[in-house]
Amino acid sequence: MQNLTPMMQQYLEIKEKVKDAILFFRLGDFYEMFFDDAIIASKELEIALTGRDCGLDERAPMCGVPYHSANTYISKLIEKGYKVAICEQVEDPKLAKGIVKREITRIITPGTFIDENQFDNKKNNYVCCIIKNNNFYGIAFCDISTGELLATEFYEDKSLLLNEIGKFNPKEILIDDQDVTNVEIIKSNYNIFIQKIGKVSINETEGIILELIKKEPYGLSITLKICLSTLLKYLHETQKISLDFINNISIYNIQSFMGIDINTKRNLELVENLTTHSKKHSLLDILDNAKTAMGSRLIRKWLEQPLVDVIEINKRLEAVEELYKNFGLLNSITELLSNIYDIERLCSKFAYLSINARDLNLLKKSIYNLPELKRLLKSCNSKLLKLIAEDLDTLEDIYQLIDNSIIEQPPISIKEGGIIKDGFNKDIDYLRNISTNSKQMLASYEEQEKAKTGIKNLKVGYNKVFGYYIEVTKSNLNLVPDTYIRKQTISNGERYITEDLKKIENDIVNADSKLIDLEYQIFCSIRDDINDNLERIQKTVKCISILDALCSFAEISIRNRYIKPNVNLLDRIYIKNGRHPVVEEMIGIENFIPNDTDIDEENNRVIIITGPNMAGKSTYMRQVALIVIMAQIGCFVPATEATIGIVDKIFSRIGASDNITYGQSTFMVEMSEVANILKNATHKSLIIFDEVGRGTSTYDGLSIAWSVVEYVANKYKIGAKTLFATHYHELTELEEKLNGVKNYRVEVKEEGKNIIFLRKIVRGGSDSSYGIHVARIAGIPEEVLERAEEILIKLEEADINRKDVTKKIKKEIKRELQDQIDLFNYKKEDIIEKIKSLDIMNLTPLQALYILSELKNQVLSINERI
Ligand code: ATP
Repeated sequence: MQNLTPMMQQYLEIKEKVKDAILFFRLGDFYEMFFDDAIIASKELEIALTGRDCGLDERAPMCGVPYHSANTYISKLIEKGYKVAICEQVEDPKLAKGIVKREITRIITPGTFIDENQFDNKKNNYVCCIIKNNNFYGIAFCDISTGELLATEFYEDKSLLLNEIGKFNPKEILIDDQDVTNVEIIKSNYNIFIQKIGKVSINETEGIILELIKKEPYGLSITLKICLSTLLKYLHETQKISLDFINNISIYNIQSFMGIDINTKRNLELVENLTTHSKKHSLLDILDNAKTAMGSRLIRKWLEQPLVDVIEINKRLEAVEELYKNFGLLNSITELLSNIYDIERLCSKFAYLSINARDLNLLKKSIYNLPELKRLLKSCNSKLLKLIAEDLDTLEDIYQLIDNSIIEQPPISIKEGGIIKDGFNKDIDYLRNISTNSKQMLASYEEQEKAKTGIKNLKVGYNKVFGYYIEVTKSNLNLVPDTYIRKQTISNGERYITEDLKKIENDIVNADSKLIDLEYQIFCSIRDDINDNLERIQKTVKCISILDALCSFAEISIRNRYIKPNVNLLDRIYIKNGRHPVVEEMIGIENFIPNDTDIDEENNRVIIITGPNMAGKSTYMRQVALIVIMAQIGCFVPATEATIGIVDKIFSRIGASDNITYGQSTFMVEMSEVANILKNATHKSLIIFDEVGRGTSTYDGLSIAWSVVEYVANKYKIGAKTLFATHYHELTELEEKLNGVKNYRVEVKEEGKNIIFLRKIVRGGSDSSYGIHVARIAGIPEEVLERAEEILIKLEEADINRKDVTKKIKKEIKRELQDQIDLFNYKKEDIIEKIKSLDIMNLTPLQALYILSELKNQVLSINERI
């Protein structure tokens, strides 16, 4: 250390504080990295690795990036999983005595990285904090770019924890460094940047929350207080900004929203498609026609959290209906919304002190639309639109302040002047006058001196040695007044200065820099004045986001011919001519065949759907789920009539054969998902099973599928509304055996060796999957198909024989059991003994399955009678 240059000593002292981050050390116009940081960064950023004398024998490895393009490099490092610490010069190098003072001004992590150019502004960027306290989880999310802070708490349940993470998809998770198990669980499910962090101790929590966001943490549980204070402390320590702009802690209850687990969210392609993981061809893509980024972010949030409160849902639906029916109103509102910028994200720029005059003008242009928006909304009748009209602060004072002070086209920089309008501040006007009129001032001084002295050829000039001077030719030297101070003799005369001339000179020379300083000061005070009103701006932001989301729903409902669903608390989902909102958009509404759905808690609880491959089973089931979700976020739905009884949770399990679970399509994953559904579904849930049991041998799979249907159909176990698509045609037998199970099939028309897909869902089961027909469409060679047909015929013959044998055995057992019942006067134990004595081990698995289920029913009915 002793030999190190002073700057290197300073570097190493600062680096010591941020060992786990790459330190961007400001040197003039560059951020430089040294030692190991330089080696890593040069490799990751593909920039040249050089060296710098540091006082040691060997030069320090070094690389650097220009400060003005640093964000591009930072974003690359963040993406690769690094943290970046920014170290700035915090004093003017010209005024520094010795080495310039430097400090870390910000630590950038995936959840706190804000770069307008790289940002997907239609998505929130959350940092999440998870705290386990006693048997509860507290989980909080903060988007530092918008100031949104939300949190919830629930009884320890790992799947709920994973669901909440999946719902908000944070970029970064802070987790208690004592909580090793959860780190592992999260890591095995998500690829999210995780940071272990020491949690705040209980007695410090309230003080931290109060100090950092000036909010009394009333009514918060201990778990939530620890969670929120840990998150806020982290943000404060890394961002080194005031967190005052976080105006609200929104505590939500997970029960207030429809439960959608992460697999279901992915399977239903709610916010991104399964193939490219982009928004394209997702439900969000269809529904998001918002005019502002704030509206887009809210639609995404609504989709991730459909409501279960029928009153709230209907409030949204009524508002959408009013806009839907009044096209003129909708048009006028959306036109105004189109002129509104992302003022929510401008709010955080106040905290980072990164707001510039152009941003203020964007704020002004946005505010300009508010009075007219309020006027339009005042005439509305629906509760929600009326509420928005009431809450919308038109911020005219802020408009006036910006309009009076900021010029129309200011520069990006706030430190180079040219920002403040003439007439706003008289000191600025004076300095600006000097700066622009210096020639004029000198000319009038010259005229004034000519008149005063009578020297007609007196001239004001300038040189580098002593600045402005007055030149008098030899012939007029006798007229020079005493107040003139001689400075220089030239060949044909003398040069003088005067006190007045030096004052003018002083004003001219300093006017520019004084003006720049003063403009900066005035800008800062305008910025601070607006910052004091941030809460009002944020309230307006909320109104605009909701209004924009509602208008988007109304617009797409008109465009796509959606209708208003009747959402109620009854236990029925009835959809007439339902359509899949994404598929119909892809293939054209005129090519999409609509289908009906009628599921209720009683007779039509479980719908078994059979039919050929490619017939449209998956599309149909997903369309039902999507229509329910659309209704519960308050949007109209693609159907001609829809009655939606509130659903508490939606589950969807897609068969391993679909190969869409990110390379995890193993039978184990399939079974864990089924287990999760059976554990968490209630009679108020909607379940979609698209092929259960396909990941294992036929008999294992069939047995599992069979008993899963029995379990979900049983009102005393789950009794959920279920759509179950399968190629196990044996399951259609369940319609006769179980209450509430109904068979449906997707119709096709056979034409020789080909089939025509009719895409119509009709009552009844199907006994063929037409797999070979579909294989033919897919282009499998004819020779292979013919051989497959031969094999199929043989297998079907064998199956008929097997079914005959089974029938005979079943008959025999029934007779035996009847005898036993008569003989032993309904003694249960004896019947069970008899069942056990039957040699079912010699039967084929399929026969055993039939018989076991038969026996189970027999025993059940006997039990009931006993
Ligand atoms: P598999 O059993 O092989 O999984 P499937 O029965 O689930 O097939 P889908 O994947 O739902 O079939 O549908 C196949 C294709 O048929 C879809 O991609 C879509 O293009 C088209 N399709 C489905 N339903 C309809 C419909 N109602 N109207 C028009 N086209 C449809």
